[in-house]
Amino acid sequence: MTKALPFAKQKIEKTIEKYPTPFHIYDEKAIRENARRLLDAFTWAPGFKEFFAVKATPNPFIMKILREEGFGADCSSLAELVLAEKVGLGGKEIIFTSNDTPAHEFVKARELGAIINLDDVSHIEYLEKHAGLPEFISFRYNPGPSRGGNEIIGLPQEAKYGFTRKQLFEGYCLARDRGVKRFGLHTMVVSNELDPYNYVATAIMLFDLAGEIYQNTGIRIEVVNFGGGIGIPYRPEEKRVDMNLVAREIRKAYEDKIAKQGLAPLRINMELGRMITGPFGFLVSTVLHKKETYKSFVGLDASMADLMRPALYGAYHHITVLGKEDRPRDYIYDVTGSLCENNDKFAIDRHLPEIEPGDILVIHDAGAHGHAMGFNYNGKLRSAELLLRPNGEVKLIRRAETLDDYFATLDFHQL
Ligand SMILES: *Cc1c(COP(=O)(O)O)cnc(C)c1O
Repeated sequence: MTKALPFAKQKIEKTIEKYPTPFHIYDEKAIRENARRLLDAFTWAPGFKEFFAVKATPNPFIMKILREEGFGADCSSLAELVLAEKVGLGGKEIIFTSNDTPAHEFVKARELGAIINLDDVSHIEYLEKHAGLPEFISFRYNPGPSRGGNEIIGLPQEAKYGFTRKQLFEGYCLARDRGVKRFGLHTMVVSNELDPYNYVATAIMLFDLAGEIYQNTGIRIEVVNFGGGIGIPYRPEEKRVDMNLVAREIRKAYEDKIAKQGLAPLRINMELGRMITGPFGFLVSTVLHKKETYKSFVGLDASMADLMRPALYGAYHHITVLGKEDRPRDYIYDVTGSLCENNDKFAIDRHLPEIEPGDILVIHDAGAHGHAMGFNYNGKLRSAELLLRPNGEVKLIRRAETLDDYFATLDFHQL
């Protein structure tokens, strides 16, 4: 099975003349089309807003494209807040969903006027003390054993995130007593989920809970946020989640429950990351070596410092050997990087066409949690990021790191 690419071999060869491999390249046209599909699916929902989870692809050029499409930003750290600020986002276009939060990050979020989504009941007092309480506040709910999670995110009761149910009711009352006027409710219980009904279940859970909160406390939730977690088809045989179906099912539940519970017009927010950019980014790498020992190895000029999902989660990332798309996949390789870690492998026992040094490999679905998870272990330098514009132009949106970057925090003169 194959996966489509937005560029031909020639285009990449020309690009490599200017920007040597390895690099990440993103498909702007596909990112925009995908963003529009999501918003189109939710036009029925009053005040619908998607806050792109910045951690997935923290590149301001990508964030700017998404801002132009009408997305906000979901930030979880100081750096992500600053990125959002740099691309011109502010106020209620930013949601700050963090955990184990240091005071100065709350201060920055308040300064930007961001929506603050607290991870713990004790943070109400902490926020008040360090940055003051805002007029509007949102809390992250952890449903605990009442709800299964999934493989990547784990079981809710094992997760470090969110308020228990009891804490949620207490928290809203406490915040109200301290002067907070308006309220939101957030959760995130799945990750990389391909079953649309599991995401719909999150919506139903929050609709019901918002109703109960209103009944028990008189506090009316204005906005529910289902978090991120929609998966992407990493494997060629998997299917993309049909967001029209998700939206239709959520709409049914909304129409059934929200007005009846006195919650209308309840706004819907999301914090999707992976499905927004994941399928539209590619790690391009050149084969340096072939090695035959007890197995057959193909060694790339990229390493897990450029994409650590395979090493971290055993994740599958599809690989295309450019120019050999139509050849039979009758060789079996481990595709490796050069880190002194034996899990530095992009693929294990992968069926591929016969590979030679100099071949260009494209590793698919690296557009989210790819470059973003880069690191410098073993002195590896993070690669460049390129943007394939709708007119075919290739634009450098982050240069590759150099040795000077790597040594920037050392002062050799003091040696
Ligand atoms: C990671 C994360 C997201 C985005 O998740 P995806 O799986 O990329 O959609 C959204 N919200 C929070 C709080 C997160 O931690």
